[in-house]
Amino acid sequence: MIVAIDGPAGAGKSTVARALAERLGFRYLDTGAMYRAVTWLAMQRGVDLGDANALAELARAEQVTFDGDERVWIAGTDVTSSIRGARIDRMVPVVARHPPVREVMRERQRQLGKDGDVVIEGRDIGTVVAPSAEVKVYLTADRAERAKRRSAERPGIGADALATDLRVRDEKDAERMQPAQDAQEIDTTNLQVEDVVERIEALVRARTAV
Ligand code: C5P
Repeated sequence: MIVAIDGPAGAGKSTVARALAERLGFRYLDTGAMYRAVTWLAMQRGVDLGDANALAELARAEQVTFDGDERVWIAGTDVTSSIRGARIDRMVPVVARHPPVREVMRERQRQLGKDGDVVIEGRDIGTVVAPSAEVKVYLTADRAERAKRRSAERPGIGADALATDLRVRDEKDAERMQPAQDAQEIDTTNLQVEDVVERIEALVRARTAV
């Protein structure tokens, strides 16, 4: 079974997807981390972030991998923490908007998900990467709440700067952020992580019962 969890930054995808995967004994795939890793490498190597073909070539040549401890690797480097900074937050959508880059990434994501029993989080999982996923969820939350959550993960950056970053990223990502028509939308603004996980788990159980 594939569980697709899509939604904007700060809606709670990673926390929920990780906890759900653990609860179900499924694997967990973070597609945002893949775009982040390629962005990190492109910046490291001075690749022009406007050059779609050069970026796609880089993504094809240097596959992102995850080890058993959920660490993220690219080009022989553990980038798990380097990809979580504000600089990468700002540049990822610039890289992710190029269709040739998305083609390479989606192909790899399908490969990583093909053995099933996996929770995949991203922006386009239920719509494009895994349109036949058995369970599709679209998480949302008020922008103020999302900014608050992000600020807990990005200490050292002012609340205003974070809110602006989030708004700009939302705008850039908007075209890839449509919920799948058959996705269950969950507003997490006033919910605890545990509640969200339970709701999705119930959807999975209902699906398994069928
Ligand atoms: O989920 P996360 O915040 O780590 O995603 C980082 C960025 O990667 C997003 O803002 C978006 O630009 C891009 N992304 C994407 N498609 C996905 C996952 C992430 O375009 N499936």
